[in-house]
Amino acid sequence: MNVLSSLLAALQSGRVEVIDLTQPLGPETPVIDLPPQFAASPGVSIDTLSEFDDRGPAWYWNTIRMGEHTGTHFDAPIHWITGKDLKQNACDTIPASRFIGPACVLDASREAAEDADFLVTPDWIATWEERHGRIATGAWVLLRTDWSKRTGTEFTNADETGPHSPGFHPDASRFLAQERDILGVGAETIGTDAGQAGGFDPPFSNHNIMHGAGKFGLASLCNLDKLPPTGAIVIAAPLKLVRGSGSPLRVLALAPV
Ligand code: MN
Repeated sequence: MNVLSSLLAALQSGRVEVIDLTQPLGPETPVIDLPPQFAASPGVSIDTLSEFDDRGPAWYWNTIRMGEHTGTHFDAPIHWITGKDLKQNACDTIPASRFIGPACVLDASREAAEDADFLVTPDWIATWEERHGRIATGAWVLLRTDWSKRTGTEFTNADETGPHSPGFHPDASRFLAQERDILGVGAETIGTDAGQAGGFDPPFSNHNIMHGAGKFGLASLCNLDKLPPTGAIVIAAPLKLVRGSGSPLRVLALAPV
C-alpha cells in the first residue's frame, strides 16, 4: 500500500482520528481589546441575503463581515512590521506546503491554571524536549493552556492592568524562531502573545519575533488537550486572501488513536 492509501485506511478504520482545533465563528466570538488609540477589530456580523423567501425562494445564504484576525485564525508574516518586506509573506503567496506540519504540543495547562500570566521560557522548552525529543522540523508548536475552556470575561481575563493570559517569553519566541525550524506557533488565547505582551520588550514580542523570522501564528485554538505531545499532523490553511494579513480558518489535526 502506498502512503496515501495507508492513511485513508487508517482514517476509515478509526486508527487515525480527525480532531477539530477550531472554535465556532459567529457574532458571539470574542475579539481582541486594544488600547483606545488603536483601530478596533469589529466582531463578526452576518446578514442574510435570502432564506427561502422573495430574495431567493430556494436558497439560503449570508454575507459575513469581520476582521481578518477573528476567532480561530492564522497570522501571516505581513501582519507585523518586522515581516512586512519578507517574500511570500501573505495569505495568497505563502506556499501551500507550509500549511501542514507535525504538531508539538507544549502542555502548560497546570502552570496557566496557577498563574494567568505564565510565560513559556527556553528552560521550560528544554525540559519538554528532554521528555519528548527535539522540536521537529517544520513543526506547528502549539501551546496548550486549556484557555479555550474559558468563556466570556474569564477568557479575556482583563483588569485595570489589562488582559492576563499565558504565552511565550520573548526569549522563548526567539529560541523557537531562530534555534528551531518551525512553521509557527499556536495558542488557545485570543492572540499568540501573552495578555501582558503589549508591555514586553519588544511589544507584542511573539508577533514581532515570529513574523520577523517569516513564521506564522494560530490563535484561539481549542481541543489541544485531545492531542498527544508529538505524533499528530496539523493542517492549517488560511483563505487565499490577496495580500491578506491573516484569516479565520478551520484547523484540523490528524492524530493516532
Ligand atoms: Mn492575529
